[in-house]
Amino acid sequence: MPSPLEFLSSRRVGLFLALTATLAAAEPGGSLAPHAFLQQLCDDFGGRLTGSAANVRAMDRLAAELRGLGYAPEKRSFTMPGWERGDDRVDLVEPLARRLRVASLSYTQPHTAFTADMVDIGNGRPADYPAGDVRGRIGLLAAGTPLQAADFVSAAEARGLRGLLFVNREGGGQLLARTGSFSGRPLPLPVYSIAQEEGQWLQRLLTRGAPVRVRLETQSRCRPIETANLVLRIPGRVASRLVVGAHFDSWDLGQGAMDNGIGIAQLFALAQTLRGAAPYHTIELVWFNGEEQGLWGSRHAAAQLGDAPVVAMMNLDMVGVPIGVNALGDDALVPALERWHTARAEAQRLPKGVENINWLASDHTPYQLAGVRTITFNGPIPRESVRYYHDLADTIDKVPPKLIEDSTAIISDLVQQLARDESLPSARRQSVDTELLFTRFNLEKRMRAMGLWPFPAK
Ligand SMILES: [Zn+2]
Repeated sequence: MPSPLEFLSSRRVGLFLALTATLAAAEPGGSLAPHAFLQQLCDDFGGRLTGSAANVRAMDRLAAELRGLGYAPEKRSFTMPGWERGDDRVDLVEPLARRLRVASLSYTQPHTAFTADMVDIGNGRPADYPAGDVRGRIGLLAAGTPLQAADFVSAAEARGLRGLLFVNREGGGQLLARTGSFSGRPLPLPVYSIAQEEGQWLQRLLTRGAPVRVRLETQSRCRPIETANLVLRIPGRVASRLVVGAHFDSWDLGQGAMDNGIGIAQLFALAQTLRGAAPYHTIELVWFNGEEQGLWGSRHAAAQLGDAPVVAMMNLDMVGVPIGVNALGDDALVPALERWHTARAEAQRLPKGVENINWLASDHTPYQLAGVRTITFNGPIPRESVRYYHDLADTIDKVPPKLIEDSTAIISDLVQQLARDESLPSARRQSVDTELLFTRFNLEKRMRAMGLWPFPAK
């Protein structure tokens, strides 16, 4: 950024006061600083649920900003099972009348309103159900269930439940939106998150044997949608590419400021920094859609890769200021990350250095399954903020400008280093090594519930 005086030299000094406020938010060339851009995106459009008008308009705004930087970003369309939230309602009917604080899980479908008795199903595993006939009831599912949605839904379906209320894992009246079906299959019964305090209230009544009756009315609905990833290519001297991706979509309850506005802003900052750059490897910045409901955008992008030479894919999903960089289980990338890390000034090294631990499931997972090496950062977001992700309070006030600035400085340094590293080959793992990437970290059980296992698909 030029000094304020340089910036002002060609302008009338009379404008100084009016400009001072914008200076903090402006980058050279008149484009917005990444945090200021994110703030506008959050405040002008709210949550960016894939398939919603807000999502489309927010992506158009991003594309316009990128064109303002001199780029030609490309929308890559794809179709996926979509879902939209309707005016849903869950009421406690007995022992007292009260509207409950709930949010349906995605892929919950509309149904005619009904009233039914509740039953406590604990963690929702078959063994957690009470003996006897529970058909037609609404199950109360504990916050701490270790089951994936596919598993607790199929257990509920098998026992003939008509609905599920899933106690929220965060207290304070919070509601965390989440997907009810990684495969996009419309749910066979309505599933709702319920505020933890109200869920525990119902649980206490049920423990005492008191009758608890609830009325469910669902308007939310599934529908196929067409959406798009936004791709920006910075051509290098060779075709091999370094993909840097962040999911653009969010849940609808809040503004998606942390999840994943942070990643949107970090990619936007990279686009600003890389303007006019002539890297060795081609850099591809991708803003994915459909991540929250089942990694649809990255699944599409990974499927389109074909045999394209890829150096690595870096995923930025809720990355705060990095304290470590993670090769996500692939040893082959560790030396390049170590080279970058040890070349940093001692004061700039990351406390946890280079880590190598795979985890599920964000946009790196489909790339991993395609044999691409992936990278992410260990960048924790403070607990007092991160507890609100997926909630109504995932709003821009949880994301300080300094988080974007400090995280971007580190991310951008690594991206530029990898993009200039001529010794870094493009490579794909053999299937057997990819399989190991998941079995080594005991991830195959969760992969199975997501429909991603056995691997390779037979
Ligand atoms: Zn996310």
